[in-house]
Amino acid sequence: MNIVDVHTHFFPKEMNLNRSKFCKLDKNFNLLYSDEKINIPTENELLEIINKFPSIKLVVQSISYIDYELSKYTNDFLLELSKNYDQIKVFGSINTNWGTDKCIEEINRINQLGAKGIGELHPDIQGFDILDFNAFDPIVENLISNNMLINFHSSEPVGHDYKGKGKMLPDILYKFALNYKKLKIIYSHLGGGLPIYYLMPEIIRDLNNVYYDTAALDFLYDPKIVKIFHEIIGEDKILFGSDYGLIEIDRAINSILQLDIDSKAKENILSNNALKLLSW
Ligand SMILES: [Zn+2]
Repeated sequence: MNIVDVHTHFFPKEMNLNRSKFCKLDKNFNLLYSDEKINIPTENELLEIINKFPSIKLVVQSISYIDYELSKYTNDFLLELSKNYDQIKVFGSINTNWGTDKCIEEINRINQLGAKGIGELHPDIQGFDILDFNAFDPIVENLISNNMLINFHSSEPVGHDYKGKGKMLPDILYKFALNYKKLKIIYSHLGGGLPIYYLMPEIIRDLNNVYYDTAALDFLYDPKIVKIFHEIIGEDKILFGSDYGLIEIDRAINSILQLDIDSKAKENILSNNALKLLSW
């Protein structure tokens, strides 16, 4: 079976070896990775995955850094991976607090080097407001003209708290997508539950540009939510994402394979939807 995992994270070996140095450099990296028990996966783990699943394709995403130099350093690492491995595409990171010019410069730079999008952004933890359209208008225009996607972390308004959960709630995600209908958007973690509202006719009409990944699925939900959302929002909008290194890819694949949906739907979620969206 073909697998495209649109939500994985890998880091330079240097960051694995010198965790505390990088934790001091970036408040958000510190928040997510200061705990020594949390693995910082590197190219070693990537090779293990490729050996285990020779036909797998992966989107390797950056994380929501605050520091400009660290973002560029990790963007370069990811681009190097995509150069070395045919089965990898890359989303880099930006932070609108750098100012519009620096963001656009970085987006153009990584686009020329092969990046297909920006993500996983985590605006409230990175310290910016995605509903600040003055800041986002030129950035979004630039992403559209480069044919790049954007991926945002999403948060459930209810339920247990976790490190980095944040406040990217469905109402905020809705307003952003509504304002940028030409931008291709992926909301991670099933959009914090936003697909429920596709049962409102105006929402399903207005959010045709939005896709949802299943990252960290069984940490958050009973996986049967995928069957329900698939039925509500249509068969081409859900993308398989594991959230590796948080979750093992086998475990994430099994969550989808075990669903009570037909094999065509599983194939769409596990690969076809992402291949189409990313023109891969
Ligand atoms: Zn996330």
